[in-house]
Amino acid sequence: MEHADAYPHGLVGRMRELGLFGALVPAAYGGLGLDVSTYARVVEEICRGFMSLAGVVNSHTMAALIVLHHGTDAQKQRLLPRFARGEARGGLCLTEPHAGSDVQAIRTVARREGDDYVITGTKMFVTNGREGNTFALLAVTDPGARPRHRGMSCFVVEKGVAGLSVVKSIGKLGYKGVDTAELLFEDFHCPAANLVGGVEGRGFAQIMSGLETGRINIAARAVGVAQAAYDDARAAVADPAIPPPALADMAAGVGAARLLTYWAAGMKDRRERCDLEAGMAKLYASEVAHAVAATALRVAGRRGLRTTERLERYYRDTPLMIIGEGTNEIQRTIIARNLVDRYGERLGALTSREAEMDATREMVLAVRLFADKEIAPLASELDGDPERLAATVKTLGDLGVLGALTPPDAGGLGLELRTAALLVEELARASGAVAAVVAGHLAATAALTAQTRSAPRRWLPLLARGERLATFLDEPIALLAEADAHRLSGRVTATTAGIDLFVAAERAGDRGVLIERATVGSG
Ligand SMILES: Cc1cc2nc3c(=O)[nH]c(=O)nc-3n(C[C@H](O)[C@H](O)[C@H](O)COP(=O)(O)OP(=O)(O)OC[C@H]3O[C@@H](n4cnc5c(N)ncnc54)[C@H](O)[C@@H]3O)c2cc1C
Repeated sequence: MEHADAYPHGLVGRMRELGLFGALVPAAYGGLGLDVSTYARVVEEICRGFMSLAGVVNSHTMAALIVLHHGTDAQKQRLLPRFARGEARGGLCLTEPHAGSDVQAIRTVARREGDDYVITGTKMFVTNGREGNTFALLAVTDPGARPRHRGMSCFVVEKGVAGLSVVKSIGKLGYKGVDTAELLFEDFHCPAANLVGGVEGRGFAQIMSGLETGRINIAARAVGVAQAAYDDARAAVADPAIPPPALADMAAGVGAARLLTYWAAGMKDRRERCDLEAGMAKLYASEVAHAVAATALRVAGRRGLRTTERLERYYRDTPLMIIGEGTNEIQRTIIARNLVDRYGERLGALTSREAEMDATREMVLAVRLFADKEIAPLASELDGDPERLAATVKTLGDLGVLGALTPPDAGGLGLELRTAALLVEELARASGAVAAVVAGHLAATAALTAQTRSAPRRWLPLLARGERLATFLDEPIALLAEADAHRLSGRVTATTAGIDLFVAAERAGDRGVLIERATVGSG
């Protein structure tokens, strides 16, 4: 079916039965009302099987979302139930022969004539162009407007009226089966009631507002294809006793792409601004998918190239995700610009903290400011001066960082491990050395907190205030019982000047070992 580039009517019918044409349409209009995270998982699973199917649903969904978010009540009542049932089969008409990335260069014109707009122009690469019947179309309604996008409007154009013809289907490298067509509008009469939102000049913004969901969708598609390519490559390994190391990079790439994608989807569901994150997910996941598909061919050897195998299809399908929904070259430019323009707007590195509790956000912000102001300027000096490093770390006691994992009854903040990790991340942005000492200190306080005996716990208030510094040793220590004492042996590799207490696990057994600095090296 894929090689014949035949439209998958049967599978599309099944998707309609499953309600997927109304995946993001609210239940009030007859849809499934899924959130974007769930929709992305659905898309990923579909693409593990056949990526083209997701294209059928996604272009349709984009058109439905434009009506949902920007349509008049009458437009929503009339169109959304039809979209949800799959009677109205949607698509997007933006690209033109001379306007791809630069959407503002479109020349399709919509001229008001009585109760209609008369549309003239050519739209290229319209997914669902042949099989679909209801398109969101961007056209120029005010050619004199500057900037040009202020003179653009979005219309819902429905087939069945003279003046709209499918000129031809466009053959493609991959992404076969789904129809991609050139549509010609020649004095096509579109009712004014189909002007989205009922007001001219808002079309460009209406179309662009759907891009976050569109990019998350492309990222999810890429994750699905990458997963499928990885699965087939693993299955093709000739000798499981010597798996090719490339599998490690493939699996890591797929996992990272998935995390980025669901991170962006989660933000979208929480109604946070996520243009940057959705762009990063789209960029990264599509590049990973392409690389994983290519590596899968290498791993499988000559078998992967056979047209009876799936691997060559994955390889042909991935470029679409690099080009569609904003090319990756343009994504990079936009992301880089955003990273510079919006630096500092977010509370932590590149990671959204908006979903965190207020107290956590404030704590992270306080540590970030401290790290930026007090630690970053000293970072290179601290690297070579352990005494000063320890003294600097101790100042974090005032902020509560050093007692982050210590319970309040022992003088700490009793934060979750997750929050403590955010604090360490903030410190690491300023100085890796400071972050490492703090991480060791927190690990030691966590180990002491887990103790039931009072002797070890007496250290906790001192450590929380930063009056003493501790660290957790990576290497277990041997504990040899002697008459009225214990002899310890083991190598302390994490020593830093200024550390007062070392906490370690016992090499044989489940006890913890506390070593005060004064005793190190004594036996
Ligand atoms: C399979 C498929 C399905 C599609 N479905 C649809 C659809 O349903 N509806 C629709 O409207 N469109 C659709 N498109 C079109 C898609 O949105 C465009 O391909 C995309 O916007 C890129 O435009 P272009 O292909 O004309 O490339 P161009 O804009 O010509 O770009 C060519 C190259 O130049 C680079 N470039 C261009 N401008 C800049 C810049 N300012 N800075 C840096 N680099 C730049 C690009 O990154 C790219 O590498 C589809 C495309 C494909 C391949």
